[in-house]
Amino acid sequence: MILMHDIVRDGDPVLRQIAKPLTFPLDRHYLKLAHEMMAYLINSQDPKIAEKHQLRAGVGLAAPQVGESVQMAALLVPDNDGKIIFKEIYVNPKIIAESTRQACLEEGEGCLSVDKNIDGFVPRPDKLTIRYQTIEGEQKTIHLKDYPAIVSSHEIDHLNGHLFYDRINSKTPFELPENTLVIS
Ligand SMILES: [Zn+2]
Repeated sequence: MILMHDIVRDGDPVLRQIAKPLTFPLDRHYLKLAHEMMAYLINSQDPKIAEKHQLRAGVGLAAPQVGESVQMAALLVPDNDGKIIFKEIYVNPKIIAESTRQACLEEGEGCLSVDKNIDGFVPRPDKLTIRYQTIEGEQKTIHLKDYPAIVSSHEIDHLNGHLFYDRINSKTPFELPENTLVIS
């Protein structure tokens, strides 16, 4: 079981590395890791389990955040009522198209690897087309918008060595490009 002390924090160089692609069939080690990463997200969104194990709630977890510099990330995205609207494990994901229109979360973003709150809007493309492989090696292409697109962008950033605050304008953290969708 992945616990908070297994999660690598900002300052560790693994979070700034470009993660390596995985080959198929996935090694047992990475299959296990994929299931453990998804289990973390499921447990962290369950108030009782989260409290028992002191888990910080997460909607996405990328392999570098547990010290594994490989192209894999788990996503478990709920709507405002807690209903899961997107669940997937990406292997070797690539953003192959994105909208020019930007979107951001009204509350800003957080990250399991960043302990302090960093205020500011984090603009990202509102719509993405992502090509990836499932853990079974099936190639998929999906179109996402709004919150699932934002979480996907955040996780794919991790695989490229970026953290969410890299995208905050440090001089004007609460100014947004015209026509940016603010998601509450
Ligand atoms: Zn993160």
